[in-house]
Amino acid sequence: MESGYVGRFAPSPTGPLHFGSLVAAVGSYLEAKTHGGQWLVRMEDLDPPRAMPGAADLILRTLEAYGFEWDGPVLYQSTRHAAYEAALDRLRQAGMLYPCACSRKEIADSAIHGIEGPVYPGTCRGGLHARSPRAWRVRTTAEEITFNDALQGSQTQVLERDIGDFVLKRADGFYAYQLAVVVDDAEQGITHIVRGADLLDSTPRQLWLQKLFDLPTPVYMHLPVATNESGEKLSKQTLAPPLDVEHPAPLLWQALAFLGQHPPHDLHRAALADLWQWAHQHWSAGRIPPTRIAKSPSDRFHGKI
Ligand code: GLU
Repeated sequence: MESGYVGRFAPSPTGPLHFGSLVAAVGSYLEAKTHGGQWLVRMEDLDPPRAMPGAADLILRTLEAYGFEWDGPVLYQSTRHAAYEAALDRLRQAGMLYPCACSRKEIADSAIHGIEGPVYPGTCRGGLHARSPRAWRVRTTAEEITFNDALQGSQTQVLERDIGDFVLKRADGFYAYQLAVVVDDAEQGITHIVRGADLLDSTPRQLWLQKLFDLPTPVYMHLPVATNESGEKLSKQTLAPPLDVEHPAPLLWQALAFLGQHPPHDLHRAALADLWQWAHQHWSAGRIPPTRIAKSPSDRFHGKI
């Protein structure tokens, strides 16, 4: 029976999946499945300069090797440019989008520091004054944007003060993540977003765009982000090892443990199907630690064992 729950996993093909991505995949998958929902995969291949050739296929093969089953076809953001452009047109017509001529350096020199770096000081809000347009920004306001994260609790931002008018189309001509994610979550009918808490601070920007586009706001749950021994987020930059596709069960066990699920020790080397069966029967989001970051299990579990 369809429950109406639609979840998703939205990797960026900048490299192979690592333990941190597995945690987001496992959390979003089990939340969807235990709610009788669908789980969609969206490939966020939005940023060709950062893409790694072959990574999208590798990610899908890795998900298969770990026993994930997604519903429907994979949506590739590289096929969605017309939808993003149409969304920008709507904002332009509503007077909410404007071209910006500022370079990164100009902004860094004049801006105060906000939640995620320099707050755009609004230099081009009133016009370009004969300078050449580079990026396109959406207007923000001083209103409070508040949402209740299912794990991290109540979150509030004032976008104009904390972030500033933010970029939706970049100077290099590519579309910004904030725009694409909102357009595509709506296109795919996503009702519940479960992802890493590294995106918690992006959520108010996404709520703002949902409001401007008159779209429903999904339910959000931001999972703790896995860090290495030095407290750095696992990523390509911090050299997180790729997931081992030959031995998925021990890593799946570790991801469940990381999410507070206490899988029985004797399942550590069980068949993958047995571990998934246990997970489907015992998954409880209430056991996930409500923190933004958590140390991942020791490095030997991340890659080859
Ligand atoms: N593509 C983003 C990432 O890999 C995730 C986007 C999202 O879940 O909203 O970090």
